[in-house]
Amino acid sequence: TDDLFKSVVSHAKEYGFVFPSSEIYDGLSAVYDYGQLGAELKNNLKTYWWKSMVQLNENIVGIDSAIFMHPSVWKASGHVDGFSDPMIDNKDSKKRYRADQLIEDKIERYQKDGKDDKAAALQTDLDTALNNDDLPRLKEIIEEHNIVCPISGTKNWTDVRQFNLMFATQMGAMADGAEQVYLRPETAQGIFVNFLNVQKTGRMKIPFGIAQIGKAFRNEVIARQFIIRMREFEQMEMQYFVRPGTEMEWYNKWKETRLKWHLALGFNADNYRYHDHVKLAHYANAAVDIEYNFPFGFKEVEGIHSRTDFDLKQHQEFSGKKLQYFDTEINQNYVPYVIETSIGLDRLFLTLLCNALVHEDLSTEERTDARVVLKFPAPLAPVKAAILPLTKKDGLPEKAREIMAQLKLDHNVQYDEKDSIGKRYRRQDAIGTPICITVDHQTLEDNTLTIRHRDSMLQERIAVADLEKFVADLVSW
Ligand code: ATP
Repeated sequence: TDDLFKSVVSHAKEYGFVFPSSEIYDGLSAVYDYGQLGAELKNNLKTYWWKSMVQLNENIVGIDSAIFMHPSVWKASGHVDGFSDPMIDNKDSKKRYRADQLIEDKIERYQKDGKDDKAAALQTDLDTALNNDDLPRLKEIIEEHNIVCPISGTKNWTDVRQFNLMFATQMGAMADGAEQVYLRPETAQGIFVNFLNVQKTGRMKIPFGIAQIGKAFRNEVIARQFIIRMREFEQMEMQYFVRPGTEMEWYNKWKETRLKWHLALGFNADNYRYHDHVKLAHYANAAVDIEYNFPFGFKEVEGIHSRTDFDLKQHQEFSGKKLQYFDTEINQNYVPYVIETSIGLDRLFLTLLCNALVHEDLSTEERTDARVVLKFPAPLAPVKAAILPLTKKDGLPEKAREIMAQLKLDHNVQYDEKDSIGKRYRRQDAIGTPICITVDHQTLEDNTLTIRHRDSMLQERIAVADLEKFVADLVSW
């Protein structure tokens, strides 16, 4: 499984999906850039989410709020005081760790060694300490279980401290007149503060939702596992405003709807599971994660949270503005309850890569052969079709360019005339292009083309006149 993950990471780099940020300067920890194919795939994932949330639901609208927000927002939301992870340093290696993570790793080791009782007891201990924000207890646990620094191998630990995950910066040109502002650690607050703006201008009736896609920033104590834990990442969040008392009904509905959405990508259902939260965030009365089975184990991809009226009430109090809704059906004014669905775009991106990457052995008795394929669902594929003239002469490139011109307004297509046709097919397989369109001498005679399918590698001939519809059907949502 380590190998599978390594091959996903190197494939992502080699084919222009994901690069380390500022790579010529040796990178920046837990920050990544999306390359030419990664940007396409990411855009397609955003479209898939936006369409299913905003376009298909008449009562959900989308916004795009600013990354910078008034500093009081983060006091009201609880992030200034409470958005932190317990951190501990090893005095010998000078390495910093998340205390809870070190203990989680120990639990995993107990499980691997078959010490299930010890693992369960430790888990309970950890949960209790976290629930009580008991930092000294976390340190005691680390000492009691002889947890050593993975780098130095020693137990020479500092005390456990809280480490706030928000990035701060200054707004305003003058240093003394400047105000401290934060890069948002979640997109949700941009939705809450616009609740009334959207409700009034959009004449929205409860229940209704507000969706948004955007960057979020967290100064994670440790960066792990590629684009799973980044310091700059992208979220796709939707806040669904409901009548108080109906929240559990909507929570269950969204829990189901969101899992179905993941399964509609067509990948193995066994790779997904729910994980109910035992420790609830200060704002939630129910919370569940949808986890995906990455090569290194199940990890959260999306969270569904019942956030009660916590956020709107806090913003009411801190801003002094009423954030209420008059429900004409029951003739009552109230602060709505909120169900949130929050998915990490980068983690979703990684599920796609892990699911889609296949090494196929195509060896026959005569020769050994293999190929690497990215089996993306066609609507999500970065390149929808490659147009390949069989040879570089006899007018085939010109004809292929004509075909290209016919398709490129509606689809991201690639033209390629370099190397043998077999090599070109393999290159397209490796980036997940669902079909190759080959222009050969027969094309000039009867206006037909060869379509070569990525997954089956089967070929068929179709008329040029039918091509646009053929491609449109193939890649339609
Ligand atoms: P974790 O427990 O893994 O740190 P979280 O519970 O803090 O995640 P939420 O605050 O619920 O995450 O954020 C919603 C979603 O945003 C997560 O499901 C995840 O997909 C994504 N996300 C959160 N933090 C990061 C990060 N540092 N890098 C990439 N994606 C992230």
